[in-house]
Amino acid sequence: MGRSEPSEPQIRIGFVGEPGVGKTTVAALVGKRLAARTAVRVEGTAASLVGVEPGSRTGEANAESGLGYEWVVRDAPAGIEAFEERVERLDVAFVVVEPSDLETAEAYERVAQANSCRCFVVVNKFEESSRDRLQSFLENGPELAEYFYEDEDIRSAVDDGTTPTLDDWTVEAILIEALQPERLDGASARQALENGRRDRVNVEVETADDGARLVDAFRTDGFPATYLACNCRCHDGHVLARRVDQAATDVNNTLDHEELKQ
Ligand SMILES: [Zn+2]
Repeated sequence: MGRSEPSEPQIRIGFVGEPGVGKTTVAALVGKRLAARTAVRVEGTAASLVGVEPGSRTGEANAESGLGYEWVVRDAPAGIEAFEERVERLDVAFVVVEPSDLETAEAYERVAQANSCRCFVVVNKFEESSRDRLQSFLENGPELAEYFYEDEDIRSAVDDGTTPTLDDWTVEAILIEALQPERLDGASARQALENGRRDRVNVEVETADDGARLVDAFRTDGFPATYLACNCRCHDGHVLARRVDQAATDVNNTLDHEELKQ
């Protein structure tokens, strides 16, 4: 009997940026976290840090911890041209930058915008002394998904060719933005899923316990849901939930693109 590849909906995320900014480390952190939750394919140098074959699928798509998606993590070679070659095969691009070179993200953001690819910045080697600079850059620049502090564990892991072990929230914030950056309250989120206005929703929850209750409520109504920890100051995490009707999802994506054009 032949083995057929399962075909879950995919979420394709890419880590792009200039040489030496730590793209591979960030891609490996995210790939490793995803591999623990659901099916993932890691492409590029990050695959060896995660301990998988480049491009091969690991694990099963998990409806609970992974919302039933197969994730593709592309660790792109450095530079804008490598991004241009891959942008059409990405749903979301994360531009990795250092605090001293934030402006380098702008060219990547333009490529993303021209190709209907959502774009966020991940700041690596962040230090408190750069906070003001980062804030003023973000006023008119791309949205921030996450920042990683300048950190001895990260640095030595990179030197050793391994993946550092960090708290969940340092990585899961990236997954939250990839799934759905727009926050809704619980009632609006449920309504948006029920009437097909959104194929995925994102609800901030104060504590993990609140999150568990909301996850149960979504699942009871037939929507796969999961809790992801975040780095926000005033709450502990987010609940992400999704519709499973693929046809409705396609209609919904069209709607979203038209809304963006307005
Ligand atoms: Zn948050």
